[in-house]
Parts: sequence; structure tokens; C-alpha cells
Amino acid sequence: MSSVFGKLPIIDSIDLSNFPFKKVIFGITCANFLFERYVAYRQYKLLKSNDRKFPEALKGRVDEKKFIESDAYGLAKSKFEMVTSFISMGVGLATLTMYSSIWNYSVSIGNSILSTILRKPFEMSLIANNVAFFILSTTISTFLNLPISYYQHFVLEEKFGFNKMTKSLFVMDSIKTLILVNTLGSIPLYILGLVLKKCTDNFVFYIWIFIIGLQITLFFLNDLVIQPLFYTFTPLNNKELEDKINALAKECGFPLSEIYMIDGSKRSSHSNAYFSGLPFMKKKIVIFDTLIKDSSIDEVVAVLGHEIGHWKMNHISQMLVISQVHISAFFMLFDIVFKNAKMFADFNFIIDPSSKVPTATLPGSSYAIVNDFPFLVGLLVFSQLIQPTDLLMNFAMNLFSRHNEYQADNYAVKLGKGEDLKKALIQLQITNLSTISVDKLFSMYHYSHPVLCERINAIDKYTSEQAKKSD
Ligand SMILES: [Zn+2]
Repeated sequence: MSSVFGKLPIIDSIDLSNFPFKKVIFGITCANFLFERYVAYRQYKLLKSNDRKFPEALKGRVDEKKFIESDAYGLAKSKFEMVTSFISMGVGLATLTMYSSIWNYSVSIGNSILSTILRKPFEMSLIANNVAFFILSTTISTFLNLPISYYQHFVLEEKFGFNKMTKSLFVMDSIKTLILVNTLGSIPLYILGLVLKKCTDNFVFYIWIFIIGLQITLFFLNDLVIQPLFYTFTPLNNKELEDKINALAKECGFPLSEIYMIDGSKRSSHSNAYFSGLPFMKKKIVIFDTLIKDSSIDEVVAVLGHEIGHWKMNHISQMLVISQVHISAFFMLFDIVFKNAKMFADFNFIIDPSSKVPTATLPGSSYAIVNDFPFLVGLLVFSQLIQPTDLLMNFAMNLFSRHNEYQADNYAVKLGKGEDLKKALIQLQITNLSTISVDKLFSMYHYSHPVLCERINAIDKYTSEQAKKSD
């Protein structure tokens, strides 16, 4: 195992003791930002221009008024994103320079809370300091994001009739999310800290094991705790639809356990359907009430035919394997900078192993003196450093995901559901007001699914291929 997961031989030969981490990270962040702005601008320009054409594939299928309305929604989202991207970029860079201050505050607050609870002076370990830093920085960023999120729901989405959320539901959702992220994030973070501390020689292997365990745990938590906290699951009460889904599952050999409907309409009128279940386990199908309301029974079944296509062609397992490789590669590279004092010094963290306490600085100090490497700060800084690889990975993953979408569409065509799938996709497009005019680069960077007319054209092609075969 150690040959696969151990230290890369090249790592020891890399000398980064004088590498200007802070300057490079700021440079990369700015370059990344400019690239994203350029991509967004191309889309904005397209939606603004008057020579957008109503796609041939949609003529007679989508009302031209919907075309205008969906592009207007796209334009509004594009303008909103223009403004918020500048705010997020500013907040992101400011937070990065303030990591050491946030660290000092989080340690001090954490120690006081625990001392009060235990009724004696208490000093958290360095791993716990990382967890306290995580909780405080997540809480700060949640509050900073609230106005943007509020505007998005109650102004932008409201204007186009999507927002179904009340203000009290918005507040409750924000509180639930913050508590969930902090509790569900803190435990694995603490374990990760222990793995990095105890298994220094071969930590990538142990982290890989840990991540697999985490993914399985999160899967069950998501199914049993997280989703039910936000949505109500009710067994499907439509006999005809249920019979047709059962027949479809039988035809495809799909291990269906239960079919549920969820009240997606409580929050938004965007529609969807999905199935969940680990490989080799029975799976449940979940359909949004909005999808059932807006589509005919055969159209809902066609959408599920597409979803079962994903299962049949092992797309979910493939994605899982890719994410494992990605995470392992991330930690193998992280090994290069994990114990680089210069990187931490660039962000005002001084490592002093002789210090008697894990954190020797008090709130108000712009420096943080710690007695070992603060791994979470290292991970955050490192993920900023490798943004260019994330960008390439994003393009590659979108390409792969689109390929999968076409395959799943083809599967639905082979089940004889091509026509219904087309109708369902058009209906989904209309209810979700998905933008019809999309710039090539914008769609390559942002879209994991092909745009509607690409899919319609492909389904037509698969259908005629299928007809030729059966002749
Ligand atoms: Zn799909």
C-alpha cells in the first residue's frame, strides 16, 4: 500500500523554504477571478445582444414568450452574480489575511466556553483549536453571506415567481444549516487532525480510508437526518404512477425499495427527481411534488428511465472512484506544504514547538503563535494555491458528466421513452426557466448537463438510430 499512498519521492527534493506563498496565492486568486469574470461577461453579452436566435430544435415545442422570459431570468442572475462575485472576492481575500486574528479569537472563545462549562480553567488541544477556528470562521462567513442569500431568495427568485419560502422558513433554514455544518464538520475535522498527527509517515493512505468511512456515514446521515430536517417525505399516493415506476424498475432490473414524494414546492418551484442508495444496496426514488404536478405520468416515468440509465451505466460508482482519486491526489500534494513554516509565516502563523500552550497569543494580536502546524489553516491556504488545477478539473468533470447525461438519455430512448423524455425536459426547462441562450465557454465551465437543444437533438439522433436497428 505504501508504494501507492506513501510519500511521493519528488516531495523531499522540492525546496519551498523561500517560496512567496502569499503573493502567489493572491496572484492566483486574482487571475482566477478575472477568468471567471471573463466567462461571466461572455454570457452577459450574449444575453444582452439582440441577435440571439430561437434554437431550431425548440421551434414549435417551446413558446417564444418562454424563450424571452427564460433569457431575462438568465440576465438577471448574471447581473446579480456580477455584483456578488466582487463582494465574495473581497470578503475571501480579507478573511485570508485575517486567519491569524480569527484563530486567536476562536481559541479564546472556545477556552472560555469550556472553562465555564467545566468550572475550571481549561486549555484546548491544538486539534481542538483547529475545530474552534472552523466553527468561528464558518459562523462569520454564514452571517456575511446572509444578505446575499436573502436578496437572492426574496428579490431575484421572487421576481420570477420561484421563491416559495417564507421569511421565517428562511431564518429557520439558515439556523439549521449553520448548526448542521458546525456539528457535522467538527467531528470529522477532529478525526482528520488526529490522523495527520498520529500517522505522519503514511497519512494519505489513512486519510483515504477515513474519507471512504466519512462518505458512507454522510450518506446515511443525509438520508436519515439531513434531508428529513428540511423536507417532508411522503409515500407516493398515485397508484398509476407507482405501478408504472415498479414496472420500469422490474424491466431494468433496478433494485427499487421505496418511492417517495417530497415537498420541494415549500421552498421553490424548481422541479427535480433523484434516487439514492449505496452501490449493492436497494435504492429509493424521490420525486419532487412540483415535477408530479407539472408533468404527465409518462413524462415522470421517462425522467426516472433517464435516472435508472445513470445507475445501469455505473455513473455514480465512477464518480465515486474519481472523487477518491481526486482526494488522494490532493493530500499527496498537500504533503509538500503541510509542514512548511514559510507558508504559515506568510499568513502570520508562527510555529514555536517550545511553547507550553497550543496557542500562546491573545485576541487582538495580528499574529498567532502555535506549538504545532495548524492543519486546517494549511488545508485552506493550500486549496487556494491549487485553484488552477481545480479549474481544469472543473472542465474535465463537466465534460465527463455531460457524456454521462447523453448516455442516460440514450438509455431512456432504448426503453422507448424518447418522446416522453423530450416533453419532460422541455417542461422542466420551462418551469425552471433555465437559460436557453448559453455561451460555449460559459456552458463548458458551469454546466454539468448539456443545454436543452443539444439534448433534444441527441435524443432525436438516438431515436432514429434505434428505428434503423429495429428495421
Ligand atoms: Zn442525468
